[in-house]
Amino acid sequence: MNTVAGIDLGTTFSALARLNGIGRPEIVPNSEGERITPSAVYFDEEEAGAIRIGLEAINCRQLNPDRAVRWIKRHMGDPIWKKTIDGRDWTPQEISSLILKKLKQDGSIESKIKDVVISVPAHFDEARRKATMDAGILAGLNVVGIINEPVAAALYYATTQKVSGRVMVYDLGGGTFDVTILDVDGSTIDIVCSQGDHALGGVDFDKKIIEMFEEAYRNEHHTELIQNEQDRAKYEDEAEDVKKTLSRRNLVRKILYGPAGSMRVEITQQQFEKAIEPLMARIEILIEVALEEAKCSVSDIHKVLLAGGSTRMPVVQRNLEKKFGFVPEIAVNVDECVALGAAIHAGLTLLRDDPRKVSSGIATGLKEIRLKDVCNHSYGTICAPIDEETGRHVIRNSIILKKNTPLPCESTQTFYTMANGQTQLQVTITQGEDEDPDFVNKIATEIFELPPNRPANRPIHVRYSYDVNQRMHCRFLDEESGRALDVEFCAAGNGQMNRTGIEQSAEELSAFKVQ
Ligand code: AMP
Repeated sequence: MNTVAGIDLGTTFSALARLNGIGRPEIVPNSEGERITPSAVYFDEEEAGAIRIGLEAINCRQLNPDRAVRWIKRHMGDPIWKKTIDGRDWTPQEISSLILKKLKQDGSIESKIKDVVISVPAHFDEARRKATMDAGILAGLNVVGIINEPVAAALYYATTQKVSGRVMVYDLGGGTFDVTILDVDGSTIDIVCSQGDHALGGVDFDKKIIEMFEEAYRNEHHTELIQNEQDRAKYEDEAEDVKKTLSRRNLVRKILYGPAGSMRVEITQQQFEKAIEPLMARIEILIEVALEEAKCSVSDIHKVLLAGGSTRMPVVQRNLEKKFGFVPEIAVNVDECVALGAAIHAGLTLLRDDPRKVSSGIATGLKEIRLKDVCNHSYGTICAPIDEETGRHVIRNSIILKKNTPLPCESTQTFYTMANGQTQLQVTITQGEDEDPDFVNKIATEIFELPPNRPANRPIHVRYSYDVNQRMHCRFLDEESGRALDVEFCAAGNGQMNRTGIEQSAEELSAFKVQ
């Protein structure tokens, strides 16, 4: 029988959980015996083809930062980003696949890990979700689904603790922030809405401490503390240490070693909290937007659940208590709940799609759980309707699938060709809320070939559907001819890999050893 597993592919740490014989999720430690693995990669220069992942990569990176990669999640879906090592260009999904490969390898000691659900931030767009799935395939995994991190955390909390009513999950990790509002009734979980920022997390708090180090050194020695990438790597680690210590103590002392000599620096919790105020203000705004989207107020929230390592910062807990009037729930290990919830989701997904892969014990353990997720963005297409006042065509974004619609969902709209004899239609799939095409994300553009010799105003039905695994499918159908265009919106041309590309790349990557 298959091992059913969930993976939290985090900005700073990753974790793997599997379902035990009665459908309870448990963390599988890595080969170093740790329950979480730093999402860090180091390309060894001594041993060709050997790639260090996790703690070893963190330790090696100060020796040669040029051969190290951290925080790759921030680049997922970026078609331009690459890391060149020994003449080979590594894409974000390839680097991420190395981390996944290590988790898979370490987790496969007792039984083989194959079918997994990987978590992503709720606000990740389609390109980032697709890149995450591709990373899984490159690592030799069968990615049965993608789950939003706060949904995974909520799934774990709701199925293991007594939670009911309207709940908010506050997920502040190493690189991202997500806030999700959901309704819980026993083991039934209905997601209401999510908001987030994919560039707001622990790394940004660390940067503030580095800035404090740099300022103190500049004031004392009138020169720069950080002279090269090696220094930066060292102070990044020290800043993270200081930040974590400030979660326990009011004051941290540190010796800084720079080109003009050493100096002693003191950072208080108060100074740190002042420095991160703008970041905390952004979080506050996102919470307000989420409450507004959920059409509720602070007093409607019965419980706040915390996920992500950065929620250990006292300021997070204090701000939430002040806002909601009660202490947020921090009962389970905030670093692990996303992976644990992803494992439950993998079980639910397999039970629905391929029940033969799930043991009867797991099926029984999961049978009460019901999860209803929503679409995290609005999706539309660019069209050119006629403006009633001017009689001219105006270019606008027409939303077809609305944000926060319960999944699975499907919606169709009809548009019309504009010119006599029109044989081509440029179709653009958008993501975003605005009517103005300049303010939405264009996630794919394709040409739809139409039959010749027809008058204008031929109907084109556009159907978008979004499945429970967070994947979107788009179909453009020419009513008259029955011709259809199914859009692969992460095609090779825009820097994403297509199927063949992935398979070729997977084969090439299998030659690299991760350890
Ligand atoms: P996660 O992505 O959920 O594993 O969260 C990792 C982030 O949590 C990193 O930026 C860590 O520095 C941060 N973190 C972990 N423990 C603490 C702590 N005690 N205080 C502040 N931040 C922490």
